[in-house]
Amino acid sequence: MPDPRRAIPRTDAVLAEPRIAKAAGTLGRDLVKAIVNAVQQAARVGEIAPADVVDTVLARLPAGASSLRPVVNATGVVVHTNLGRAPLSGAALDALTAAAGATDVEFDLTTGERARRGRGALAALAAAVPDAGGVHVVNNNAAALLLCALALAPGREIVVSRGELVEIGDGFRIPDLLASTGARLREVGTTNRTSIRDYAAALGPETGFVLKVHPSNYQVTGFTSAVPIGELAGLGVPVVADIGSGLLTPHPLLPDEPDATSALRAGAAVVTASGDKLLGGPQAGLLFGAADVVERLRRHPAARALRVDKLTLAALEATLRGPEPPVRAALDVPVESLRRRAEALAEALGADAVASVAAVGGGGAPGVELPSAAVSLPARYAAALRAGEPAVVGRVSGDRCLLDLRTVRPQEDVKILEAVRRCG
Ligand SMILES: *Cc1c(COP(=O)(O)O)cnc(C)c1O
Repeated sequence: MPDPRRAIPRTDAVLAEPRIAKAAGTLGRDLVKAIVNAVQQAARVGEIAPADVVDTVLARLPAGASSLRPVVNATGVVVHTNLGRAPLSGAALDALTAAAGATDVEFDLTTGERARRGRGALAALAAAVPDAGGVHVVNNNAAALLLCALALAPGREIVVSRGELVEIGDGFRIPDLLASTGARLREVGTTNRTSIRDYAAALGPETGFVLKVHPSNYQVTGFTSAVPIGELAGLGVPVVADIGSGLLTPHPLLPDEPDATSALRAGAAVVTASGDKLLGGPQAGLLFGAADVVERLRRHPAARALRVDKLTLAALEATLRGPEPPVRAALDVPVESLRRRAEALAEALGADAVASVAAVGGGGAPGVELPSAAVSLPARYAAALRAGEPAVVGRVSGDRCLLDLRTVRPQEDVKILEAVRRCG
């Protein structure tokens, strides 16, 4: 009996197969070779037939050189932190690609001299929030708060309501972040109620600023009161407002969600926000404020450690100047159109279309329910869909796996159709 292991194709032969050779060109030869060797080993121990080595290698090749896998977000959570928050717009993607090589991010092509870094993105931000005398961009909103504490309250007190001591996620807490700079947190009021007198009593020569944090991932209801920015601004110390979600102007569907323009008009000295929540752009921390205050932030030594790269600047500018990004489309799409898409998919799949409730997500508007529509499948589909390419992530509810269409872009419906069929 001949040893079947001798039929296992040699590494060189497998790597020479045209489709595998092409993959080695984009993924790197080492990565592809490691997959080939693993598959040969599987054949040696009899897990697969020698004749299946090439097909198995092809099936195991990743779609790209990064191990990050593309996901269709069918969870119904618009800003899903674990799925990378905002998906970028086509305009932002194009801008990223164009900026990826050498680019004039800090160079004036007319004079041939150094220029203000990221001036295009800063100009777009300033144009979007004309009430801001100055704007600045850092790595994320946490970095924006860090910079405020370092530059505006070094070794001094930051006055904040006990109702606004927020844990952002993954165990990170805004009060700890601020205290890590050496500033001291001066907590005022109670969890449910804080009055202007509480703030006033805490102010003194040690005060750096009053911090107003939007409770973006929880709600305190019942016997509550909080002090609006407008009243805090009357206290005579700078107010830093962390609005969280990155709305630049009010959104009609989210009346309780703060926005940068309104916060500045109410008298905030600085407004901080994320770029990758409701703004729909890349991860970034946005700072808006009076020109002199923003200049202090920009010139602080730590600003250099918190600065963003050219890719972020490119994507941010394109998000601001380009067409409506996917996050905004997901908020604004009428439920009837979602229902029609769910029915069409359900009919093609022999499944049910059901009413669903989507959410904005950890990025803002806690408690807001967005009417939606979903394709309902047995729960066992959830794991199989996650394992697909692209992975489809739905929401398991009881014994059902719901694919909520509010967070699915219309051009992704066909991917859902194919993915579910492959699981069938
Ligand atoms: C999300 C959020 C943050 C953290 O923002 P990152 O951009 O993730 O650093 C801080 N404050 C509030 C109110 C938030 O909602």
